[in-house]
Amino acid sequence: MQIVLATSNGHKLKEIQALLPKTIQLLSLRDIHFTSDIEETELTLEGNALLKARHIWTYCQSNGNTSVDGVIADDSGLEVHALNGAPGVFSARYAGEPKNDDANNHKLLQVLEGNPNRKAQFRTVLAFVSAKTTFWVNGIINGHITSSPKGMNGFGYDPLFIPDGYQETFAQLTANEKNSISHRALAVTALLEKISIT
Ligand code: IMP
Repeated sequence: MQIVLATSNGHKLKEIQALLPKTIQLLSLRDIHFTSDIEETELTLEGNALLKARHIWTYCQSNGNTSVDGVIADDSGLEVHALNGAPGVFSARYAGEPKNDDANNHKLLQVLEGNPNRKAQFRTVLAFVSAKTTFWVNGIINGHITSSPKGMNGFGYDPLFIPDGYQETFAQLTANEKNSISHRALAVTALLEKISIT
């Protein structure tokens, strides 16, 4: 089964391919010769994931790419309880353009300064589009925001996020440790369950 992952991010492709059974071969946008940008104009993670999956499915159909069985697209974000779910869909550019992880982390710590409610969750939405079906699933990992950045691994808000049941931030865990419990891994598990019953 050949599935396109609607991303040009090689790390994401590897991470998600590692979570899939060998019977599913994941193709990148480069593999299908898609070189344009897809503007993420929706105001929710679900909206953006569906928009990207539908766009690439239509691209494959209109280019006669019949070997592609489906398209997966993802959108993720950090949702902080005390901020009513912000930065959420705006996580990548929380501190403005151009996107900058350090600036985002700095802003989040400033906004939460003195606030005892540090609860947060990472959420990944994976949308799936094929000839037979269109749906999306969620993967959520709960945790809390530290008072200062810790750790060098990962990306984004990893230095600020301690998952429930751990003492370390995502950035202090190894890639394997993080990937085995992450919101993306949980979303892939939910997606596989749904594909197998669809
Ligand atoms: P994307 O949809 O996976 O590109 O994620 C959008 C933004 O959410 C990223 O630029 C990060 O700021 C944040 N984010 C998503 N997943 C993670 C993660 O696993 N660790 C840290 N930050 C993340």
